[in-house]
Amino acid sequence: MAGEAEQLRAYVEYLRDMGVHDFYRRGEPVYAEAVPVPAPAAVAAVSVVDEVAEARPLPAKTTVVEQPVVPVAVPVRPQFLEPPIAKLVSFDDLLPLPAARVDAAHKAEALAEIKTEIGDCTRCPLAYAGRRTIVFGDGDANARLMFVGEGPGADEDTSGIPFVGKAGQLLNNMIQAMGLKREEVYIANIVKCRPPANRVPEPVEANTCDQFLLQQIDVVQPQVIVALGATAAMYLLGVKQSLSALRGRWHSCRGAKLAVTYHPAFLLRDPAMKGEAWKDLQRVMGEMGLKSPAKA
Ligand code: SF4
Repeated sequence: MAGEAEQLRAYVEYLRDMGVHDFYRRGEPVYAEAVPVPAPAAVAAVSVVDEVAEARPLPAKTTVVEQPVVPVAVPVRPQFLEPPIAKLVSFDDLLPLPAARVDAAHKAEALAEIKTEIGDCTRCPLAYAGRRTIVFGDGDANARLMFVGEGPGADEDTSGIPFVGKAGQLLNNMIQAMGLKREEVYIANIVKCRPPANRVPEPVEANTCDQFLLQQIDVVQPQVIVALGATAAMYLLGVKQSLSALRGRWHSCRGAKLAVTYHPAFLLRDPAMKGEAWKDLQRVMGEMGLKSPAKA
């Protein structure tokens, strides 16, 4: 089975290299017979997902041809994403903040709707790379603090919950040291499916999946986001800089203050850097008025 997934992935990558990008779907299939000729009012009612996708500029070589929608009897191909975009776009530039915010009583419901929208997602190649579970996110829908990592690992792929392996245990310890419980924060990743062999998500994967994380952030509306590692920071902020250049100062993302620190998996490999990560978290605690349990 794993061999078949690898073979399929290699095939997808080959076709992508050849310029075939129609594997990347936007939203659920929309068949021609189900699409009426749009009335003006219906055209205005686009989903957040559509708005995010449209916020990404098409490559210069792409020609967009407006075709009239003609109802036909035979369902044919689904609505496809545009070719993958390698350009980095910050979450703030991707889409304006929503004019109406979800109130506290409806945040859990709104998150459930995003999860339903994701469904059994096959919008990017990670769907065909051996993933077992889509790891949506975990925690308090009304959390003041949100952690964003890179992508699920093997333990998360099995459990469907982000940060549950050794790195997850370390993150739990970090959260406790901040005077919080894990269930009081919200945790998610840039991509929701495990990249094979825990490799870094490719741009097409991150740029396809991040529309859902953006919606989650807009629903939770955290006061502070902590980007765990350079990959999370790169996609949230739309900049490719070293971690040392991004740490130690505040950034902004979707109305929240954003801090950058080391990924717990990195800290497991290099425990000497835990002190530096703790400095980052102390700045977050200062911003949020949190006290370490030892000092409370
Ligand atoms: S990583 Fe995201 S976009 Fe890709 S298949 Fe999984 S849920 Fe869908």
